[in-house]
Amino acid sequence: MTGCNWDQERAMELYRRLVRAYSPSAEEFVAWKLRLEQSSPFEILVGIVLSQNTSDKNAFAAMERLRKLLGDVTPEAILRVGTSALEEAVRPAGMHRQRARTLVALAKFVYQHRGWLEELRSIDVEEARRYLMRIPGIGPKTADVFLLMYLGKATFPVDTHIARISARLGIVRKGARYEEIRSRYLELLPRDPELLARLHVLLITHGRRVCRARNPRCNECPLRDLCCSPA
Ligand code: SF4
Repeated sequence: MTGCNWDQERAMELYRRLVRAYSPSAEEFVAWKLRLEQSSPFEILVGIVLSQNTSDKNAFAAMERLRKLLGDVTPEAILRVGTSALEEAVRPAGMHRQRARTLVALAKFVYQHRGWLEELRSIDVEEARRYLMRIPGIGPKTADVFLLMYLGKATFPVDTHIARISARLGIVRKGARYEEIRSRYLELLPRDPELLARLHVLLITHGRRVCRARNPRCNECPLRDLCCSPA
């Protein structure tokens, strides 16, 4: 395939290529889903907050310290321990003051809105995003990860890997912002939460292994003939 015009057929080809190239990450995806099913929704949101803009290893270390501090990761436990202990616990994830503030805001919100999860389930995806983003510190990416991965609502979270790959592939223009990239994927792909969740994970794997920020490995890339800017 040549040219930079993306349509639904080309987007599905991208998905199929990534599935073929990174089958282990499909297993990781299943393992991740299982872990999700074994955690409480609040704990999952906390995990997503800890994993933003940091490595999995650092997010995991912060979560372990938080569990040690709190016992069960609940809104009540977070509100009981206070901000400075929280800051110390989440330090491995970086931006510890900001993260601790977000966790307190999240805990207050969930504590005061006991029916939050049922409410989120019952409303459409755009309304659900707005609902979650009312919480200070919860941005579109955190909201989209939770809504897609936990509640199975059709949205598409965009991280730095996905933004970079999408511009290189020509799916969006260089410098496109979060909402533009998210909407483009939703236009190009079926509104199938399972497919969107898999594609999200596969693109991140592709960004870590092949389409790296520096020195992308274009010669080994399974998307080379779909790409607008192979090196
Ligand atoms: S060909 Fe290069 S720039 Fe294009 S997607 Fe592959 S690794 Fe990225």
